[in-house]
This record gives sequence, C-alpha cells and structure tokens, in this order.
Amino acid sequence: MKINLSSKEYDCQRVFCIGRNYVEHIEELGNDRPESPVIFSKPATSLVTAGSTIRFPRCGETPHFETELVVLIGKKGVPENFEDAATFVSGLAVGYDLTLRETQNHLLGKALPWEICKGFDDSAPIGKFVPFSGSAADLAKIEFSGSINGKLRQSGDTAKMIFPIPELLLAISKYWELLPGDLIYTGTPPGVGALSAGDTLSATDHAGNTFEWVLENPGK
Ligand code: ZN
Repeated sequence: MKINLSSKEYDCQRVFCIGRNYVEHIEELGNDRPESPVIFSKPATSLVTAGSTIRFPRCGETPHFETELVVLIGKKGVPENFEDAATFVSGLAVGYDLTLRETQNHLLGKALPWEICKGFDDSAPIGKFVPFSGSAADLAKIEFSGSINGKLRQSGDTAKMIFPIPELLLAISKYWELLPGDLIYTGTPPGVGALSAGDTLSATDHAGNTFEWVLENPGK
C-alpha cells in the first residue's frame, strides 16, 4: 500500500505488530508480562484505509477490536541505540489490530502460529499519518483513542507502554533491517472487545484527527 506523508510517498511492504505491551491489557486477557517485545506481523494487504468497509472474515468468526498507535518508519537501517531509534520514526497514526480472539486462544493453547487470527484480509484498518520528527521522549507521550458506534472504548497513552517505541524498533531490527514504509502496530491498551457485524469503528489520533471504518454486515 502507498502511504503519503508531507509530499513523500512510502511503499508499505511490511506490517509488524507488538503484542502485550500494556500492563492493564495483559491483565484483562490473563496473559503473562513478556520479558521482551512479542513481535508478529500481518501481510501489507491486510491494511484498510479510513472511510472503507472492512470485509467480514469469510471464516465466519466475528473479530475483536484493538486500537493501537501505529509507527511509520522513514529510513533504511538498524538503529544504534534508544535515542537513535526515534530518528527512524517519520509518522504516527491510529489503527486497529483486528483479531479473531476465539481462534487465537485455540492456537495459543496448541502453541501454533498466530497468522490466521491476526493477518486475515482487512485485519489492519489504518488512519492517515501525521509527520513526526521528535525525540524518544516525545514518543513517550502520545495519546490516542478508539470508539465503537460512537462510544469510547479504549484510551491509549504511550507513557503506559511496557516497552517504549524506540525499544520496539531496537527489538525488531535484531531480525529485520528497518525499511522506509514499514509500519509497526505498537500494542493495545485495555478495553478490547468483540465487534458485531455492521459496527462503526472510529479512532482518534494525538492530533485530534478521527477516522472511521464500518464492519461489513454479511447478513444484509
Ligand atoms: Zn494488538
């Protein structure tokens, strides 16, 4: 997917995601606090731009919502340290990491990969990116929120992350050299829940921009 940010166009080929990055969310799902960032990925084809309809999963399972802050990587390379990692961030947006929770619990129970419960078609709704050129400290005070059918369900603040954004970039780049256009879904704050067919999802970023998507109602 092409991402436009202040007259520059990025070609997004990879979507990384972080699981279990907020203490209160770990507690609500009854998971253990991770020793290092939990990294997984979605295909870039799972992205859905704001204003679109999210296709209902053809497997028939209703997805759950997770509102997240999403980082856009602006340059190629491997960050040297915490402060240097912040210089790789060129934009921030809000998005949803849609999850087939029932399938996920089943896979987790059998220690199988998460691919189908996290990376299905349209599992990554994404808002528009706001340019970022600040420091690591600036990345630790970003607020965002998510609402379903107009009702506020999740409020996020990067200050409450277990692993701050620069640390996530350092962890990912141990395995993948960062590339311009890479996206990183940085984990969800508490308040996750099930959607229903036809629901309207909205997310508001730190600049006050709100984006909307509708989950298809296949019964209609
Ligand atoms: Zn998530």
